[in-house]
Amino acid sequence: MALFPCSVGGHRYPGRAQHAYLNVVNGASTDRMHLRLCEGHFAEVVGSALAHLDVVTENTQFEQPRMGGLCVLRGEALVGRRMVFFTWYDGNTDGGTAAYGEVCVDCGASAKAVLSAFVDGVD
Ligand SMILES: [Zn+2]
Ligand SMILES: [Zn+2]
Repeated sequence: MALFPCSVGGHRYPGRAQHAYLNVVNGASTDRMHLRLCEGHFAEVVGSALAHLDVVTENTQFEQPRMGGLCVLRGEALVGRRMVFFTWYDGNTDGGTAAYGEVCVDCGASAKAVLSAFVDGVD
């Protein structure tokens, strides 16, 4: 059994944990969450993150709000602006994969709030 419970649902599970990190940047401070996930929830969280966020490439520009200035969680105009970074390790990509998006101040109140918008079952 995994030493730590899954970060989604809090259940214990056989096999090794898969790791992901969710960071919500608020000016100079960052709310970080280290996720230890079972295989099923890892696939669910990564799938949802990919549906909301864009994979970071060398051309990604973080300084300017992106075209449209929409909240990636609500799809409506941003009210304030926080930057969300999600990084995960699937064993296929050295150094993991990062994805990025922008959310409102309220939608991005914490990394946990963003995670619960991605997937049900977050305490
Ligand atoms: Zn799980
Ligand atoms: Zn929002």
